[in-house]
Amino acid sequence: MSVNEIILKGVPAAPGIAYGSAFILDKQDFIVPPRAIMENEIPIEIARFEEALVKTKEEIAKIQQKISTEMQISQAQIFEAHLLVLEDRTLIEEVIKRIRKEKLSAEYIFSEVLKKYVKIFSNIEDDYLRERVSDVNDVGRRLLKNLMDETKMHEFDSITEELIIISHDLSPSDTASMYNKNIIAFATDIGGKTSHSTIMAKSLGIPAVVGLKDATLRIRNQDTLIVDGREGLIIIHPTEETKKHYIDLRSRILKFQDQFQSVKDLACETTDGKKINLLANLELPEEIPSIIKHGANGIGLYRTEFFYMNRVDLPSEEEQFEAYKQVAQAMAPNIVTIRSLDLGGDKFISSLQIPRDMYPFLGWRAIRFCLARPDIFKTQLRAILRASAFGNIRLMYPMIIGPDDLRRANAILYEVKTSLRDEKIPFNEDIKVGAMIEVPSAAVTADLLAKEADFFSIGTNDLIQYMLAVDRVSEQTAELYDPGHPSILRVIKNTIDAAHKANIPVGLCGEMSSEPSFALILLGMNIDDLSMSALSILQIKKLIRSVSFESAKKVAEEVLQLATGQEVDEISRMRLRELAPDVVTMKNDEKNG
Ligand code: PEP
Ligand code: MG
Repeated sequence: MSVNEIILKGVPAAPGIAYGSAFILDKQDFIVPPRAIMENEIPIEIARFEEALVKTKEEIAKIQQKISTEMQISQAQIFEAHLLVLEDRTLIEEVIKRIRKEKLSAEYIFSEVLKKYVKIFSNIEDDYLRERVSDVNDVGRRLLKNLMDETKMHEFDSITEELIIISHDLSPSDTASMYNKNIIAFATDIGGKTSHSTIMAKSLGIPAVVGLKDATLRIRNQDTLIVDGREGLIIIHPTEETKKHYIDLRSRILKFQDQFQSVKDLACETTDGKKINLLANLELPEEIPSIIKHGANGIGLYRTEFFYMNRVDLPSEEEQFEAYKQVAQAMAPNIVTIRSLDLGGDKFISSLQIPRDMYPFLGWRAIRFCLARPDIFKTQLRAILRASAFGNIRLMYPMIIGPDDLRRANAILYEVKTSLRDEKIPFNEDIKVGAMIEVPSAAVTADLLAKEADFFSIGTNDLIQYMLAVDRVSEQTAELYDPGHPSILRVIKNTIDAAHKANIPVGLCGEMSSEPSFALILLGMNIDDLSMSALSILQIKKLIRSVSFESAKKVAEEVLQLATGQEVDEISRMRLRELAPDVVTMKNDEKNG
């Protein structure tokens, strides 16, 4: 091994191997390439800048007006701060002076001045003023958008070579704009196995490692890297030998995954005829083609909160209706399970300045927020109900802790249905309404909830963190986040049995369902459907088609007797290799692809 090969260990987020050069994405940076201008273009650039200022002010005033009629006045006041930035004479004059002097485009000069402002604000001692950094950023982006051709504005559009993105964290809008770009992998400093950046990584279908702690400090632009998404490794300056090993491994993984294509159009059933629904998790509508390509039987979890994030206003009823309708039509006649807004935890909405809880995952999130803000909740419910006339939509509430909040949510749903009926707007009167089982209190009272819900979906990403008291997004506690812990297996079993006793279907939509050894256990526990990232569907289908329900039941019974997560892991992997060797073992390798 040569001296300068450095290996960083993080949390595996999305499988696969990538080899390429690093691109450090600095969140404060706006990547606007410099463009030289001629002397006679100076007045044109200044005029463009002034026009963009006016346009941005008008846009903000419009949003402010809309929000103050829809929400509390205090929320509209945030935009006052945005307007103040746009009226700051020092900033405006500095931009104009520098356009004249440096003879560079308005957008480039503005982005440079903006960066300086962001830096000044970030270093201010006063907490309140420091937090205004996000206002400066927001308003800056908006103005840049108005100055530039929108398609060229995004950071990733200036990227033309194949790159590995390294950043502190990755927002949903960053991820969305990576679709179909020359980005072959990414790695972040923060994040755990089920944090939103990890979930987004899977939806992109490229290898990713999160929770590397200081990757942005240790990796430099243009460094040659290998990203090993299976093991959670980043190798900086790999030697020729390491490179060869990984390139070879990558081609074996691709070949290994290729074999799963053969089951795409076959039924998803065990060798003794037990049928399972394999559904996809959807974060962004861009994923639909991949979901269809991977043969999903429908959508088991449509995470609608990403729709609300990284924008300055709330999505309107019409906008939501169009999006839900489009997904429902694309998937028809298969089901689309739309989850109502799950704001909070590690998912925040920039358009709502809500006070941050000390412990966001235990605070004002998901259904709690919706019940407290029926205005926002009703808009979404109307959009979902209206879209239900165009496909096979089910509705699901997140973070239900017992029958009480399920009833309260249903009471609001009832009101919305009544008003739609009065307005003669069509919707599916029999829309199924389910509860996510992701809080221990809900899992323990699953028998009571089963009497009032049409279906369950077990959300293990949260259930594990709440059962084990382990923060799901923290890289510090990632080792303790253990899906195989006996307590988790027991509550899952309890929930499945309670659902079946009440004759309602039960699925699981946490990341656990795409792990072949857990999928085998869940199958044996008699789960009805599994919902996962589209990329995992074919491997799990192949697994289900390779085993009998009877043998899976035995595995489930066996692991339910074990005392530790590690034993569960070892035994279930061993049984998996015995029962379905082709599904998990590549030639000359012990790991699954
Ligand atoms: C879960 O908690 O398991 C889940 C599927 O939802 P999310 O990851 O969006 O919290
Ligand atoms: Mg959850």
